[in-house]
This record gives sequence, C-alpha cells and structure tokens, in this order.
Amino acid sequence: MHSNNRVLVVDDDDSILSTYQQVLSPETIDSGVSQALAATLSESVKSSADQETAQYRLQYANSGEQAIQKVEESLRSGTPFAVVLMDIRMPPGMNGLEAADRIRRMDSQIYIVFVSAYSDYSAEEMHQKIDKNMMLIHKPFSDDVLVQTVRMLCTNWGREHYLMQAYSQLQTFSDTMVQQATRDGLTGLYNRHFLNESLENEVMRARREQLPMGLLMVDIDRFKWYNDHYGHLQGDRSLHAVAQLLCTVAKRPADLVARFGGEEFCLVLPNTDLEGVKTVAANICAELALLKIDFPESDVSSWVTVSIGGVSCTPQREDTSNLLLSIADRLLYDVKNKGRNGFLVEVCSDVPASESIFLDKTSIYY
Ligand code: GH3
Ligand code: MG
Ligand code: MG
Repeated sequence: MHSNNRVLVVDDDDSILSTYQQVLSPETIDSGVSQALAATLSESVKSSADQETAQYRLQYANSGEQAIQKVEESLRSGTPFAVVLMDIRMPPGMNGLEAADRIRRMDSQIYIVFVSAYSDYSAEEMHQKIDKNMMLIHKPFSDDVLVQTVRMLCTNWGREHYLMQAYSQLQTFSDTMVQQATRDGLTGLYNRHFLNESLENEVMRARREQLPMGLLMVDIDRFKWYNDHYGHLQGDRSLHAVAQLLCTVAKRPADLVARFGGEEFCLVLPNTDLEGVKTVAANICAELALLKIDFPESDVSSWVTVSIGGVSCTPQREDTSNLLLSIADRLLYDVKNKGRNGFLVEVCSDVPASESIFLDKTSIYY
C-alpha cells in the first residue's frame, strides 16, 4: 500500500518546527537543536527527511501564502502532503482558516489540523468552519496527542489513496470490459449484441415519439473472391476501410454503425425517413466508388462494392426490430439477385398483417 509521511507545518513562528520535529521524528534531529538551525530547517528538512530513519518528512511554511505555494509544488511534483499542521493566527496576511480553505480546494485528500493557542473565532464558529478532513488541537498540546493524530491521519491518507487507486484501476478495467463486450475487435464498430439492444431501444423511442427511423443492411459484394485472391489479412484491412467509410457517411451523432457479422454491416438511423435512408445508401455507394479499393477480379466493378437493403418505419409496436432486419435483409438479397452494387429501400408499416404491412415500395437504384 502506498504510504505517505509528508507533513507540512505552517506557523509564523519558525521555532515551532524544531518542536514538531522532536516530537514526530526525534531520531532525525539533534536533541539540542538551536533556534538558528530550526530557522533553516525549511530548506534542509527535505534532505534530512529523506533519510531512511525519518518517520515523518516535515516541511515548513511561515505563512498561509507560502503554505499554498508548497502544496501546489507538492501536487505538481506528485509528492502530496498527507497532513498540514496549521496555525490559525498568522499576522500579517492570510489566517490559517483562509489558507486551509484554499489548500482544500487544491487537494481534496489532504488532512488539515489546526494547532492554535488563540483564535479569533469561538469554538462554535470553528466547529462550523472545519470540514470532515479538518480538526482542531489546542496549544499547548501533549506530544502523545500530536504523534497519535499525525500517525492516524497519515495512515488514513494512505488507505484512501490506495482505495482511490484501486477504484480508478477498477474503472479502467470495467471500461475495457464494456468496450470488449460492445465492440467488434476487427473493425472497432459496435458488435451484433450492442446493435440488437440499440435497435430495440431505438424502435421504442421512435414509437414513443412517432418519428421515422431507418435501418440499412450493407454487404460487401463477392468478398469471398476478394479473400481468395488477396488473402485474409488484406481482406481484414478492406473490411476495416469499409467500416470507416460507413462511419463517415452516417455522421449524425445518434447514428449507429455496427458489424452484423462477417462482411455485413448495419446502420441504425434515428429520425430518418425514406428519403434519408435512400440518401445514406446512395452516399455509401458513391463514397465507395471514390475510395476505389482495387478488386479487378470482381464481376461487378473494378473496385470493392456493396449491396444495401434499407427500410424506414415509424413504429407502432415495440417488437418491430426483427421485422426491420428481415425487410432490410430481403431487400439486400433482392439487390444481390439483380446484379449487386446498388441499394433497394422501402418504407414499411408494422401494423398487423390484416391491415397491410408494406407500403410505398420504391424501385431499385443503381
Ligand atoms: P456476395 O456478393 O453474394 O455477398 O458474395 P460474398 O463472397 O461476399 O458472400 P459470401 O457470404 O459467400 O462470403 C462472405 C465472405 O466474407 C466469406 C469470408 O471469406 C469473408 N469474411 C467474412 N468475415 C471476414 C473477416 O472477418 N475477415 C475477412 N478477411 N473476410 C471475412
Ligand atoms: Mg458479401
Ligand atoms: Mg454476407
């Protein structure tokens, strides 16, 4: 577990440092330490505290402003303090409470112990001003109280730090798991599982809002030939390129592009009518024609092409997602049968069969 024994002493009386040093880390200091030595300890304490024997690493600030600066530096260098021992009255300038408030805003983990003989505030006012990471010790204090307080707070700091690190690692792990559970490894697109859930949600939303939604099913033409000719690695690269192209065409924030399986993709297009579905399908074919992924062995074109089935629907039912998939699939295979490299789209109604299912079938586009 990460431990922290860094303690910042803030007091306008620099002789206090030797007192703290003697109480908290007696083995690091000559028992006869002089005032002059104490005055220079703020500079030397870091190196002396680096000694293996040091129990606590004390640093010194003689004003609130200097304390803030030291805390800032400690955070910047990744060596935060666990505890601040803070005098309240530090004339002239900022008092201990103001300094503590500023420090707390920079470092939410740090413990602040006010150590004071006098205060301009009543006990009740002090009680209101200190938060759960602060406490008050009256001077003169007993050495035992100081040692136990600092030890407990440093230990707590270490535990909290450890828990925060563990939490952040768990968060990263959980993000990775979510990523792996929802994304397709090869293309980075959403996977079939995520598509199914999103499509169901989108159907429910479109039904509630009575807005049209679109679904496109896209299948690469003659991709088996492509693999046979160029090998699976090149096939994977081209799959990835087509996946990227689909993402650039379906550019609305709510559009969803997923790998349905193999060389088949699905696009879910919220708030999209038949014209919109047709436009997206046409754009996919046009962009692919511009991308020109070489495929002279194809019987369709000299470049990789796709066949697309698309449907637009304003759902009246909550269980329409399978109907949309089956219509898009049927239209896709109609395109395959008619020669590939094109799209067929239609608008559908999901009211019961007796009331008619398909409306406004449109013609094939090449
Ligand atoms: P069609 O025009 O009728 O769609 O013909 P096709 O060859 O594309 O269709 P078919 O279903 O016969 O073959 C699909 C091929 O897609 C099979 C496989 O070689 C290829 N494929 C599927 N998944 C992957 C993949 O992850 N990587 C690679 N490289 N190829 C894949
Ligand atoms: Mg195919
Ligand atoms: Mg296929």
